[in-house]
Amino acid sequence: MPDLYVDGAWVSARAGGRREIRCPADGTLVAEVDEADSGDTEAAVAAAHAAFHEGPWPTTSSRERGDLLLRLADLLERDTDDIARMESLDTGKRFVEGQYDVADVVSVFRHYGRIAAEESGRMVDTGSAEVVSRIVHEPIGVCGLITPWNYPLLQVSWKVAPCLAAGNTFVLKPSELTPHSAIHLMRLLEEAGLPAGVGNLVLGAGATAGAPLSTDPRVDMVSFTGGLETGRRIAAAAAPTVKKVALELGGKNPNIVFADADLEVALDYALTAVFLHSGQVCSAGARLLVEESIHDSFVDQLVERARRIRLGGPFDEAAETGPLTSAVHREKVEAYVAAGLAEGAVLRCGGARPDDPALADGFYYLPTVLDGCTTSMSVTQDESFGPVLTVETFRDEDEAVTIANDSIYGLAGAVWTQDAGRGQRVAGRLRMGTVWINDYHPYVPQAEWGGYKQSGTGRELGLAGLEEYRETKHVWHNIRPAVQHWFSPDRSNKTTESEQAD
Ligand code: NAD
Repeated sequence: MPDLYVDGAWVSARAGGRREIRCPADGTLVAEVDEADSGDTEAAVAAAHAAFHEGPWPTTSSRERGDLLLRLADLLERDTDDIARMESLDTGKRFVEGQYDVADVVSVFRHYGRIAAEESGRMVDTGSAEVVSRIVHEPIGVCGLITPWNYPLLQVSWKVAPCLAAGNTFVLKPSELTPHSAIHLMRLLEEAGLPAGVGNLVLGAGATAGAPLSTDPRVDMVSFTGGLETGRRIAAAAAPTVKKVALELGGKNPNIVFADADLEVALDYALTAVFLHSGQVCSAGARLLVEESIHDSFVDQLVERARRIRLGGPFDEAAETGPLTSAVHREKVEAYVAAGLAEGAVLRCGGARPDDPALADGFYYLPTVLDGCTTSMSVTQDESFGPVLTVETFRDEDEAVTIANDSIYGLAGAVWTQDAGRGQRVAGRLRMGTVWINDYHPYVPQAEWGGYKQSGTGRELGLAGLEEYRETKHVWHNIRPAVQHWFSPDRSNKTTESEQAD
């Protein structure tokens, strides 16, 4: 069966392109899928454009659009294990993590299903009973949605759910490495009753299948999640057509541990912060900032625990985390660690591929801790997107905040302390879109997510995540229009009168 979904039909790539999808855990062939090129994407944009301008979707009531999302959420929940298996095979992540991800996806669709009709506009007080002034929200139009491989369906859900709730049509281009859950989503949208052309799917490389979404004048908005360099390229490509651009980019997120924290809990979370999904998490706490007085004992224990983390494939129940996504990505992580060591970082554990022959066919990399780091090193500034923790020390609150903010990124961060006042003070001073106090990683669909500085523009999730996909219109209705006499009404008559007087 073909894998591209355009104008309500499953179609093959026009030029016959195909791509092999292999499991990063052992290199086995998962499937071959259609590989679109720019012509396929242009056809998908044409379908989304027609569905927006001629179809019923944008003017369907927001309640009905919400109902469709709620039906979709039920279907996703029904298929949890199938989708989790697809995610595990495409990404190499543990099956149980795939199941958690699908539960999160279900909550995202339920959230936007429920709030689709909320905040639909407001009245403005003009001071006149004879003027009605309304602020209304309308869909933006055709949205190009581009997503990465680390949380494939979750990243898609953060875009598709508010996009549909607001009444837009879309062309989705998921990561070329992890297409299967997106294909399944389109099948479920079809089953839930989405009209033809409203949702379209193209699969393939960013430079060919993805690029037209930034340049095509028929696309009104492009929402992108991925790396900083790609985000810059997309923003530049979108500028000539002045389309709306929303960017969720990378992060280099500080996890700040004060000496007065509950250190056993902070240690446990410091491991999850950075090594969850082998560090392939945009909000990973990859920069540990630890108060100088507790550095030695805290880092010794952390290293000892990191050495014991068990690597393995998606269906190995003893595994605690999985492989990196590709050979190319592992090479980037290796180069990143080598640069850190050359700059003087101290390797405390990891820094290599595992020597277990059972893992030899996958793209595994050992949990790595680099101690003795400073803000001037590339390893504390660049995102590795791998299982690598850098350790820096600070002496007091001011220094902790200064070091934490010394980054081009501003996605997320955490502070560990038992002094609630300090927790709130530091949270207020961190230039980041999300700050956790005595926690790491939780998020809920009701709360906004996004980056300060070069971590991005715009917000996903929460009410702001819905606003991203809406235009705002002011409708001014003068109920009793009357002549204003701003300009003289009968100047020509007056001239005639004076001429008569002469
Ligand atoms: P990437 O930038 O390489 O690719 C992301 C997507 O963009 C893919 O679908 C890719 O095909 C597409 N793409 C690439 N070039 C394109 C182009 N010129 N035009 C249109 N599309 C193009 O990123 P990745 O390696 O897939 O993901 C990892 C990155 O994503 C990390 O930097 C991570 O921090 C970031 N990320 C951020 C968030 C967040 O919420 N801020 C969430 C997850 C991942």
